[in-house]
Amino acid sequence: MYKHFIPSFLSWKNPGNMSNWFVTFFNSIFTQYSYGELFLSTTAYFAVLYFGLGWLYWKTCRVLCSWGMMEKINQQPYSREQLRFELRQSMYSILIFGLSALPVKYLIALNVIQLRENTLLNTLWGLLVLTFWNEIHFYTIHRLLHQPVLMKHIHRVHHRSVVPSVFSVYSFHPLEAALLSSVLLSIAPFYNFSSAALMLFPTVSIFINFSGHSNYRLVLKTKPRWLLFATKHNDHHGKAGRKYGFMTNFMDDLFTKTEK
Ligand SMILES: [Zn+2]
Ligand SMILES: [Zn+2]
Repeated sequence: MYKHFIPSFLSWKNPGNMSNWFVTFFNSIFTQYSYGELFLSTTAYFAVLYFGLGWLYWKTCRVLCSWGMMEKINQQPYSREQLRFELRQSMYSILIFGLSALPVKYLIALNVIQLRENTLLNTLWGLLVLTFWNEIHFYTIHRLLHQPVLMKHIHRVHHRSVVPSVFSVYSFHPLEAALLSSVLLSIAPFYNFSSAALMLFPTVSIFINFSGHSNYRLVLKTKPRWLLFATKHNDHHGKAGRKYGFMTNFMDDLFTKTEK
């Protein structure tokens, strides 16, 4: 009886097919929506992720902290002035992220970007590829932004959050937001993704970003290196560390070694 409550696209019996509702919805975003509708819905989507999930994530961290399951990484206080600054910068970023969906639609119309079928497997695989690509894309842009002139004029906005918070995740100079928003556009012409993977990636990405900026981490008896990713980016803010990768270390390991 319980199986009636499981969405059909998650059914083990038919793991390749997403339900019609999902397929139609995701297919229509880039093909049926006008540019105006796409901009408004994408902007609203990013706003819900940032304000809604951000608030929920922050509340959950505080509850888990009171239960002794999480701990604060940096004990410095988080000021209201910082929160106001982060919210203002993030609103600019959300508008830019909303705009970033438009060239994707344009390239789909030109057939430069081709979409894979919206199956569960295509979508999960697509999300995995995009998460991996994001590590390379983020590292490259982040490394560039740490060049003195770009740091001074652009990246310093993000680094104003010395102790980051969930609300630092989109706190960028508009040019940094535009550069980071090219993550889909820089790979989708060369590799086919399902439209569901393209649309769901910001949700996966913001969770990874919350972990790296929330200033909270899990209390673990042993800390394997890969689980320290939340601390790594947090430290990058607080100690102006020279680790430019986000979740994984492979880009830092690769380029730090070759430079020596
Ligand atoms: Zn940085
Ligand atoms: Zn950051």
